[in-house]
Amino acid sequence: MLRTIRLSSQPDMHLIDIGVNFHSSQIAPHTDTILERAVAAGVVAILATGTSLDASRKASDLARLHPRLLFATAGTHPHTARDWSPSVRQSLESLWERPEVVAIGECGLDYNRNFSTPADQRKAFADQLEAAVLWKKPLFLHCRDAFEDFYAMVEPAVRAGAHGVVHCFTGAADEAAAFVELGLDIGITGWVTDLKRGQALREAVQAIPLDRLHLETDAPYLGPKNHKNRRPYNEPANLPWIAQAVAELKALTVAEVASQCTRNSRRLFGIPA
Ligand SMILES: [Zn+2]
Repeated sequence: MLRTIRLSSQPDMHLIDIGVNFHSSQIAPHTDTILERAVAAGVVAILATGTSLDASRKASDLARLHPRLLFATAGTHPHTARDWSPSVRQSLESLWERPEVVAIGECGLDYNRNFSTPADQRKAFADQLEAAVLWKKPLFLHCRDAFEDFYAMVEPAVRAGAHGVVHCFTGAADEAAAFVELGLDIGITGWVTDLKRGQALREAVQAIPLDRLHLETDAPYLGPKNHKNRRPYNEPANLPWIAQAVAELKALTVAEVASQCTRNSRRLFGIPA
């Protein structure tokens, strides 16, 4: 049953979650209640991540059901890059035409797991970079254990006019600085709350300018560790905990972090206030 989710009237904190995998079977059945809890937590807009043609269609269709609250990305993740073909590209183009699809991606390189071969990943990524220049849409980028190849591919695209965000950034300060200097923004997930795996990122966050940061849960993955999650999955209602961690690292208030990151996300993705 479709329920209309009312937008938040909370004046103190407005957050935008730039990455939620609603197509995941872990959270798909709970979409309506997840959206209600998100709004109650001050989340005013969410990007549903498109990681394959099928997931992108689902993300876009879901966004149409919740105008102003949900937006979508459409693209092919490096894991599914082996499926890339001219017909996939053509089908994605019909999604990029839709107004609720505000970014191209998730696309990039992931040499950590190599679910698709590096060569297939580079082919799909190159095509989507070219599309971002052509379509003048921001990129929703994924880079894991592939900095050198990723940077070498993304740099000429940015010089040609592409812009976007390196989502779920988990690298060190020098990689963050390179992306920021190039003109890309940085997405921060609950990884920043992980005191074991997240140390390099925690240092990096201190050096990334606040006007280049975006907040994201990447739900259902990466539940924030500074918060006792009551559910077996992460969800956008947990986004304030990521804002909290960023605020502590930057010695700012949560409200300052929330309002600037929300401004950044509105600007990058053209999300109306
Ligand atoms: Zn990703």
